[in-house]
Amino acid sequence: TTGQRDRRFHFVRKQQTFRMSTFRNILPSWNKDCTKHVYVRPPPWSDSLPTIYTITPTYKRYVQKADLTRMSNTLLHVANLHWIVVEDSKKKTTLVQDLLKKTGLNYTHLNVHILQKLTSKGSGQRNLALKWLRDNISVNDSNAGVVYFADDDNTYSLELFDEMRYTKKVSVWPVGFAGSVRYESCKVNELGKVYGWEVKASPNRTFAIDMAGFAVNLQLILSKSDVNFRLFNISHGKQETRFLKDLVTLSDLEPKAANCTKVLVWHTRTSAPPQFRSFGDPNIET
Ligand code: UDP
Ligand code: MN
Repeated sequence: TTGQRDRRFHFVRKQQTFRMSTFRNILPSWNKDCTKHVYVRPPPWSDSLPTIYTITPTYKRYVQKADLTRMSNTLLHVANLHWIVVEDSKKKTTLVQDLLKKTGLNYTHLNVHILQKLTSKGSGQRNLALKWLRDNISVNDSNAGVVYFADDDNTYSLELFDEMRYTKKVSVWPVGFAGSVRYESCKVNELGKVYGWEVKASPNRTFAIDMAGFAVNLQLILSKSDVNFRLFNISHGKQETRFLKDLVTLSDLEPKAANCTKVLVWHTRTSAPPQFRSFGDPNIET
């Protein structure tokens, strides 16, 4: 493999040298236009790519703006992505409103506050996003799409979005740092079928998978119009399996990320900053 890499590096260098010396002096404007095109963000909308509807619940806390900033910087690299951000709040906040506007992303900004204390963090918000999709996109709409539940504090590789984009029913992949282990994954047989789960926490769940570890075809979400996350009488770790049971069976699952051998998303957490000393202008947004 080292030899292969060396050859490729050599090829790229040769190509670059060729471009610089040959074209730059002859066609300086071509070079400039090319650079401009490459750095458009988000990437230009394509009529042929399925849309990735990324659903993100979010709530007010010290690290909220930092988390949303980091996440939006990731999403800005992804083509045909529609970000549905649902605030856990009585009103939409200017912090989230302004942040979304400034990103330049395609987004929908919603909010819902559920009075009762729930075991399922973010699920009332996810359900509102599902309702928005069902109210705004027709089942007969020919536009292909995929729905992904992406919490605001996780870490997402760009490859992950390529993996999920052509999901037929439900695609699955490993998640780093989930379930109190280094990674959780899916068991895949020689035929490329998912037959179980490589997890420590409640391994007997039908779908023992983290929220960040699967994506659902948009048409499936639209056609099964009464499928939502349970808000009551369900423990935190059972949300995903309960939801997926209403949509598919194990044999429907499409393993991604090289048959579930690559970690492309991490269930990270941003620690709250230490107790602050009284300091500075309270009007400065952090
Ligand atoms: N969340 C929310 N309201 C809350 C707590 C969390 O909307 O009261 C959101 C949070 O911003 C995140 C998702 O729900 O996008 C999951 O929450 P968290 O990351 O705290 O869960 P954990 O990673 O601990 O499972
Ligand atoms: Mn989290």
